[in-house]
Amino acid sequence: MKLGLFGRPVSHSSSPKLFAALGRILNRKIEYEAVRVDGPLSAAVEAARAKGWRGASVTIPFKLEAADLAGGLTSQARAVGAVNVLRFESKLVGHNTDADGLADALRGAGIAVKDRVVMIFGARGAAAAAGWACGKEGARAVRFVNRTAPTARRLARALAKSFPKTRYSAGAAANADVWINATPLGQGDNDESPAPAGLKAPRAAVDLVYGKVTPFQRRASEAGAKVIDGTAMLVHQALRAWEFWDKPLTPARRAEIAEELIEELS
Ligand code: NAP
Repeated sequence: MKLGLFGRPVSHSSSPKLFAALGRILNRKIEYEAVRVDGPLSAAVEAARAKGWRGASVTIPFKLEAADLAGGLTSQARAVGAVNVLRFESKLVGHNTDADGLADALRGAGIAVKDRVVMIFGARGAAAAAGWACGKEGARAVRFVNRTAPTARRLARALAKSFPKTRYSAGAAANADVWINATPLGQGDNDESPAPAGLKAPRAAVDLVYGKVTPFQRRASEAGAKVIDGTAMLVHQALRAWEFWDKPLTPARRAEIAEELIEELS
């Protein structure tokens, strides 16, 4: 199956390595190409269709443009408001696997959010997916802490409609059971942490940044929290994407493959 990734930049992405390993595990031929998109996403999609791609992953900064471009959205994509997976049919179908991918990653790592207070740093695509996953998993409260306050307030209001039992809010950082970093802080050469000093240590911290130990991860782990980086979410959102392009895996098989892939990428 021919697949690929659209984004800018894409050179740092682990997705080609991940899909090569998935092909080996499943004994399937998967050709996966990472394409840096400098022009409109629509032109990249047309070029990929001409090459016979079945679908594509979509990353920064195209997750909202992909939602606008799609001729149809799955209910998941509509609920999260961002598209990270496209399937090429007669029309272009947009889907979101970041939310389920994060929920799978939390479950796989034994991090419970049910009845817990969660603080999410960031308020755009990844934070929306994280907030959605927390609502679905029954979090008691979710607080968005973001540089641009109105974006966080808008997101909290939107998610409160989908999950009325979870108390969504936006504002300054406060004590919480679980921290989730959904900003790029700590990525690449950046050495900042979104979590201010002086907060009580959480039980667990989840960094969506992967491939390095960031100050966010270090601070939480030194305070005794259970910490995972973004590798598990990366793997799980990719497996869910694969299922959207191919066919569903059983939860047991998905968990087994995820474990192998996380080990391969760690
Ligand atoms: P995005 O749309 O660019 O949003 C970035 C968020 O971070 C925004 O809320 C932004 O605040 C905030 N931010 C950016 N720079 C900041 C800074 N210098 N100081 C404080 N806040 C800052 O990105 P996204 O798609 O939501 O992704 C966020 C992160 O998650 C990225 O690092 C991405 O690689 C990662 N991610 C990982 C996975 C995975 O599978 N592991 C999946 C999805 C995303 P403003 O609103 O103020 O701009």
